[in-house]
Amino acid sequence: MSNILVVAEQRDGTLNRSTWEAVVGGQKLAKELDKEVTVLLLGKDIKDLADETAGKGVTVMVVDHEKLADYTPDGYSAAIKQVVEKESPAYILFSHTYMVRDYAPKLAASLGKALISDCIRYKMAGDKPVFVRQVFQGKIDADFTFDGDGPYLVSFQVAAFNADDLATGGSGVVQNAEVNMDGVEIRTKVLEIFEGVKQEVDLSKAERIVSVGRGIKKPENMDLIKQLAEALDAEIAASRPVCDDGWLPLDRQVGSSGQTVAPKLYFAVGISGAIQHIVGMKNSGTIVAINKDPHAPIFDIADYGVVGDLFEVLPEFIKSVKKL
Ligand SMILES: Cc1cc2nc3c(=O)[nH]c(=O)nc-3n(C[C@H](O)[C@H](O)[C@H](O)COP(=O)(O)OP(=O)(O)OC[C@H]3O[C@@H](n4cnc5c(N)ncnc54)[C@H](O)[C@@H]3O)c2cc1C
Repeated sequence: MSNILVVAEQRDGTLNRSTWEAVVGGQKLAKELDKEVTVLLLGKDIKDLADETAGKGVTVMVVDHEKLADYTPDGYSAAIKQVVEKESPAYILFSHTYMVRDYAPKLAASLGKALISDCIRYKMAGDKPVFVRQVFQGKIDADFTFDGDGPYLVSFQVAAFNADDLATGGSGVVQNAEVNMDGVEIRTKVLEIFEGVKQEVDLSKAERIVSVGRGIKKPENMDLIKQLAEALDAEIAASRPVCDDGWLPLDRQVGSSGQTVAPKLYFAVGISGAIQHIVGMKNSGTIVAINKDPHAPIFDIADYGVVGDLFEVLPEFIKSVKKL
């Protein structure tokens, strides 16, 4: 058995994108610790998804059970607990999704083990991993390690790892895990899945994105952003306040509560670079930022930065691009 179990997340036979990011995290950690990774997939009638997942060259362990047809914290934590007790992994990794926030603490408590949640990365201190999570609204990065015996539970923030770094060289095996769910009481019933935002734009596929922040000041100024996007043949995205104010639809929001994107070019205009925004775009190929504040955190991750007033810089920039 593998020593690192990465718990996948699926709904209606489709994997959550961030599952692959967690698998990449697991693969990197496995390399450091000389361990192997198994992806744990739970649900009902998920054979096709298991085959598809294993097709990427990873070992997949499947728990297929009636009581896992819909996600419930009771069902998931009971099933994963049984797998963990049988297989004794050293680490159990998750992507820090809403679902994981819901059941992982319950699972950790039922195992009597600790969970370090919402980590942004790990680093090695000798042969021991140190997990880094942000505190005080992202102002401080704090280091955490586990004491005592495993299994150790860790959830990683969405975009902590890049799904494109997946090592695909494995043999891609599917194993079935037997669990006994007879005595497991499911105390919640899924009535309806509420789709908060109907996502009409898939920004994750865009090659170029022009993203606008509160620095644009008012919706009438959005035309400038449209001109820039047209000149660069880019999709338009935004930070949260711009979408909250209704200047752009919610499905254009990038960040921890919006879309995660990794275009070749990310052009951040009047965006400060709050952590909740950065987690959604930091894996972009080239990041260009325009901001009048030289200390704006966006410059920490920008490849090219212009310190200046966007209302002066952009018209000139657009003119130059159009000449190309
Ligand atoms: C639970 C939670 C989830 C969140 N999720 C998200 C999310 O998914 N996405 C997201 O983006 N945010 C999210 N946020 C909000 C986040 O914390 C920030 O408040 C937000 O990203 C700030 O947006 P902004 O950079 O556009 O605005 P501001 O922080 O107000 O920054 C505006 C920037 O524009 C610059 N500026 C002003 N005028 C000009 C000018 N004329 N020329 C050039 N630059 C100028 C300023 O210097 C400033 O840096 C979340 C917050 C919480 C608590």
